[in-house]
Amino acid sequence: MKVLVFNTKRYDQHFFDETNKGFNHTLNYQECHLDAATASLAAGCECVCAFVNDELDATTLGILHKQGVKLVALRCAGYNNVDLKTAAELNIEIVRVPAYSPNAVAEHTLALILALNRKVHRAHNRVREGNFALEGLLGFDIYGLTVGVIGTGRIGLNVIRILRGFGCKVLAYDPFPNAQAEQLGARYVELDALFEQADIISLHCPLTPDTHHLIDDEAVAKMKNAVMLINTSRGKLVDTAAVIKGLKSGKIGYLGLDVYEEEDDLFFEDLSDKVIQDDVFARLMTFPNVIVTGHQAFFTRDALSNIAHTTLQNIQEFEQTGNCSNRVTL
Ligand code: NAD
Repeated sequence: MKVLVFNTKRYDQHFFDETNKGFNHTLNYQECHLDAATASLAAGCECVCAFVNDELDATTLGILHKQGVKLVALRCAGYNNVDLKTAAELNIEIVRVPAYSPNAVAEHTLALILALNRKVHRAHNRVREGNFALEGLLGFDIYGLTVGVIGTGRIGLNVIRILRGFGCKVLAYDPFPNAQAEQLGARYVELDALFEQADIISLHCPLTPDTHHLIDDEAVAKMKNAVMLINTSRGKLVDTAAVIKGLKSGKIGYLGLDVYEEEDDLFFEDLSDKVIQDDVFARLMTFPNVIVTGHQAFFTRDALSNIAHTTLQNIQEFEQTGNCSNRVTL
């Protein structure tokens, strides 16, 4: 199938070209995001391949439809950036990569927890400047702590597995409890109980109207003093203004983010020569107890290879059968 792959970096092209040797689709690459301004580039393609920060709203989908696009192959798990109702009306199929490496995101979650606790980011800078003082680097044992895991799907389960290896007590919340989480040693509780009892809280649920700003002023108020909050899921799960207030008061003692509510204007680009216009993000960067990574939790060789394989497989399945087991429905 002729596919226009939007929003690509060199690493995407490398993994897609390697994997496509086994598929033989015609792949053309664009570096620009897919949105209403760029959708007409898809003229003559039956399929576009899009990423997590592309804008598949009604206008974009309408333009894609006019160009003859029948399939949008998302090379990510989340699909909160797609207007599914409009896609269905226009008969555009949406497919995704439901799981490419839940281990990658779970392991990055632990990287944030460990780095925040032992202040690895600060220690690294100090030692490079010849400052070997330990003042200000005091951490705590993770062993025996209570960790709250919100969302016990593929990634949440892996986080639970790793945390249990550290000797943590795990409390879980999910509207659809999963026996596997209990087998791993987690205990399901109500959300408020999790907020009240957890020393560390980690978010692994999808972004939906129900979970938008799940972490707001009210939620922060229920948490333990100096709680550690980790979000490797979706930025809009967290009301950034509320966590900034929590950081200023000391209610939140540690914040680890791989995602940010307004990340679309920042992440995945080298802006080191530019002035950051987002004052909320700039404020976050001033706290010594905050680590932000730029949506890199998924970014392992294994995950990129799996993403390319499942995406190209999805396109092939659609081409051959008109259907796809990884289609996204309303
Ligand atoms: P999944 O679909 O396997 O699991 C999500 C779980 O969240 C399900 O068990 C679901 O029942 C639960 N859930 C739904 N609504 C909830 C709510 N209101 N409160 C608590 N739990 C709720 O998804 P996954 O593969 O584990 O991925 C989780 C999220 O991680 C994705 O939605 C995506 O946003 C994010 N993600 C981030 C990266 C990254 O690089 N940072 C990469 C992949 C996925």
